Amino acid sequence: MKSKVIVMALLSVSLMACAQETPKVKHKKSNTAAKSNVKSVKFANATDPICNMPTEADMKDTAVYKNKTYGFCSAYCKDEFKKNPEKYVKK
Ligand SMILES: [Zn+2]
Repeated sequence: MKSKVIVMALLSVSLMACAQETPKVKHKKSNTAAKSNVKSVKFANATDPICNMPTEADMKDTAVYKNKTYGFCSAYCKDEFKKNPEKYVKK
């Protein structure tokens, strides 16, 4: 339970940083997490390696590579990553 609180705090921080205009998103997110029983994923990448946009906790396009989860803004970016993950993964 404690870890969930921490996740929520992290979400709040990122929301304040980039989406102040949509406070409803926060409510929606917690509902989704409870329903799907999946905790917010901490992506291995802070930014989408294809288009360089920042990743968000609720991105739906994800790929797992070498036991790490990467988030992408779209299926296109995910596919580009999958074609050649070594090119985008920093060691
Ligand atoms: Zn992208």
